[in-house]
Amino acid sequence: MVSLQNIFSLVDRLDLAPFTPWTRSAQYSPAGLEAESPIFQDQPHLPMPLGTFVYPRFPRLPLIDRLSAWPMLYPVIDFDNSDEAWQRYDAMTARELFKNYGVSARLYRDAFEPMLLVGLFAPGEQCSAAAALGMLYYFILAHQADFDVVWCRGTVGEKIFQPWCDRITQAGGKILTQRRVTDVEMTDQGQVNAVICGDERFAAEAVIFAVGIAGMQNIVRSSPTLQQYEPFRNMMNLGAIDVLATRLWFDRKVAIPQPANACFGFHPTTGSTFFDLNALHDDYRQQPETVIEADFYHANQFLSMSDQAIVQMVQQDLTTCILAFRNAEVVDYSVIRLPKAVTHFAPGSYRYLLPAQTPVQNLFLSGDWVVSRHGSWSQEKAYVTGLEAANQVIRYFQQGQPATILPIEADEPHIQLARSMNQCLRAVQNNGLTQFWLP
Ligand SMILES: Cc1cc2nc3c(=O)[nH]c(=O)nc-3n(C[C@H](O)[C@H](O)[C@H](O)COP(=O)(O)OP(=O)(O)OC[C@H]3O[C@@H](n4cnc5c(N)ncnc54)[C@H](O)[C@@H]3O)c2cc1C
Repeated sequence: MVSLQNIFSLVDRLDLAPFTPWTRSAQYSPAGLEAESPIFQDQPHLPMPLGTFVYPRFPRLPLIDRLSAWPMLYPVIDFDNSDEAWQRYDAMTARELFKNYGVSARLYRDAFEPMLLVGLFAPGEQCSAAAALGMLYYFILAHQADFDVVWCRGTVGEKIFQPWCDRITQAGGKILTQRRVTDVEMTDQGQVNAVICGDERFAAEAVIFAVGIAGMQNIVRSSPTLQQYEPFRNMMNLGAIDVLATRLWFDRKVAIPQPANACFGFHPTTGSTFFDLNALHDDYRQQPETVIEADFYHANQFLSMSDQAIVQMVQQDLTTCILAFRNAEVVDYSVIRLPKAVTHFAPGSYRYLLPAQTPVQNLFLSGDWVVSRHGSWSQEKAYVTGLEAANQVIRYFQQGQPATILPIEADEPHIQLARSMNQCLRAVQNNGLTQFWLP
């Protein structure tokens, strides 16, 4: 996406070219093709969010339903990623938000909920309205080109992490794999002086945990040291979501109109995506067979199924989208079950998310669930919060050169104006009786 500025800058500095050109995408339901997106940056520029509404092709969605999205502009402007905005919207579900602002049932079901299922990995009634606004604004609404996507031309591990790790090693860094952090050791002054991985102890002057929610909860569970701190105990209230990642090799070439596709309506509370890896990955470009990656988010009910049943389900879904999959035969597959793999931004979860600075002076956190005012989401946020935590370590030691963190692209002028007018109005209201009402 255009907004992955820091990741793009990193791969440039590493002299890597891991991404495809900008690619188009499509959306399917059991009724067939629902939407096709152009490359937005190639279209004449329209003020946000007009381009997002005008340029995609929706063969089924009536105009009246699309128009019902307009009242949502108010919460989009009102939610400015501040602490107050998170507190105002976080207790509400995303579904309630869309309902309260008059979004039609069909637009919610066929457009907004599918975005939540692939962007926040959960159905609207299980997503915080604050997270929904933040994610939708960052990935889709802020600028016309935000919805444009590039994909890695292989696995992210081989194309980005491996060369990045090589550079770290060449620069003198030491990367140890296959170790699970189980605890930390503290000095009498309350600072971390070692990381414990089972029977191994690694001395440390400062520590950054870059683990997801489930990983952090496992560390807290096994760490009497961290359990002493209320914020670490409280983060046990957070949740994570199951994901299923599959790859299918078919015996023949199937023509797939777009390389990246999202699906909705096939399974009530599960979203999915499928990618044509022959079009995206260098390794499969010349392959005579079709190679598909199909991922399912909020896939709780699928993880206990057998591989064969999963493969059959995936082929059935693919056939509903593109008929030619019916006669193709699966010649190989891989099924990866990922329990509690991604962050669940549940309603009311904001109060338990932690900032980079923990109650322990030299212990910091990064990850897509860590509170940051940067405004990015998912992979970009995981990287940005890593840089923010690294900069905190530099500040702590008063030594070193802070990393440059590129801000997200500024709001368009009319949005800036609307936001500042709204903030003035809110300031006036806040002098009055607002504390009487629920935020
Ligand atoms: C199938 C799928 C598709 C996705 N697609 C996209 C996409 O297209 N765009 C996007 O922006 N985001 C996408 N995401 C989300 C993205 O992957 C996450 O936002 C991102 O990986 C979060 O990074 P993180 O560093 O916070 O956590 P993670 O990537 O989860 O990394 C945490 C690491 O910590 C390790 N760990 C856990 N416990 C311990 C321990 N005790 N000791 C040592 N290490 C530990 C884990 O093994 C893991 O390697 C996708 C996620 C999935 C599952």
